[in-house]
Amino acid sequence: MFEGHMNAVKLLHLYGTPGLRQHVGQAVRNGALLGVWGADGTHPLRCFGVGGRLWLEGEKIFASGLGLVRLAVVTLRADDADDGLSRLALVDVSDPARQDLSSWRASGMRATASGCFAFTGLELDPGHIVGRPGDYTREPFFEGGIWRYCAAHLGGAEALVDLWRDALAARGRLDDPMQLGRYARAVGLCHAMASLLRETGHTVEAAAEDRDSIDAAVAGALLARQFVEESCVEILQLAEKSLGTAAHISGTSIERIRRDLSMFLRQAAPDAKLLQAGRLLAGAGGGGPPW
Ligand SMILES: Cc1cc2nc3c(=O)[nH]c(=O)nc-3n(C[C@H](O)[C@H](O)[C@H](O)COP(=O)(O)OP(=O)(O)OC[C@H]3O[C@@H](n4cnc5c(N)ncnc54)[C@H](O)[C@@H]3O)c2cc1C
Repeated sequence: MFEGHMNAVKLLHLYGTPGLRQHVGQAVRNGALLGVWGADGTHPLRCFGVGGRLWLEGEKIFASGLGLVRLAVVTLRADDADDGLSRLALVDVSDPARQDLSSWRASGMRATASGCFAFTGLELDPGHIVGRPGDYTREPFFEGGIWRYCAAHLGGAEALVDLWRDALAARGRLDDPMQLGRYARAVGLCHAMASLLRETGHTVEAAAEDRDSIDAAVAGALLARQFVEESCVEILQLAEKSLGTAAHISGTSIERIRRDLSMFLRQAAPDAKLLQAGRLLAGAGGGGPPW
């Protein structure tokens, strides 16, 4: 939830008008939680004008923080200019009648209160349109911004490793060579993820405006995402091997974190992201290899 909040604040900081930034700043100071809802289902979100006013139609799926998020930055299409570019708008999503939690039947990430939100019939304040068409996918902050959710994945992996060590210690199994080997491997992967994400975050946030530096930052973020996903999957397997059936007992923190992390890792279009990293690296400017 915090990552989504920071993503929304960042988008408004980058692309919002001073008036909108001031409005949101006040809301945040008063405790409002923000989110970014980009995922469309069978009824993609669109806006259209009638009688000089703007109206919304459609829904968002995978909308995290139903009942918690007050203002969501949403992606939408404009009916009168469907140029294929995504628009952004800030919408009050606090109406409980429009929230549907029943669609979230996933085994993991239940505490995120995710589900569908129905926008049809809501009026859109033109002053709440954020930036220009296409700003949402502007780099290095779109794919490049992946480092933030990877940091949240790492947090889940670290929490799992801590609980796993405590559980082994409680059973008097922590000094077993096989257990120590698995545990050390997991800690090493966490350290490697942390180092890589620290560097990736700095590179993305400090990328200059020239194409080569933006491409290098985005490729770095996409590679970091791949490494974090693979490392977290390995840590999940190591924890399960080390703990045996104890990793699967419902009602325990270990079992919940296992379920949550394995679901949370399933972010959108991972194959396409690796492919994009490969394309960027293969076409990297400067004539030399990227290392
Ligand atoms: C806990 C959680 C909270 C979330 N909260 C939000 C939120 O608040 N706001 C928001 O906007 N989104 C949110 N998302 C949704 C997220 O942005 C993605 O939309 C979602 O994770 C997509 O998952 P998927 O596995 O269905 O993806 P998919 O992209 O369908 O990926 C599944 C697999 O199919 C492959 N694949 C994808 N497209 C194709 C294709 N065309 N052909 C062949 N293979 C393909 C992928 O590479 C992958 O291997 C959340 C997701 C999770 C897990």
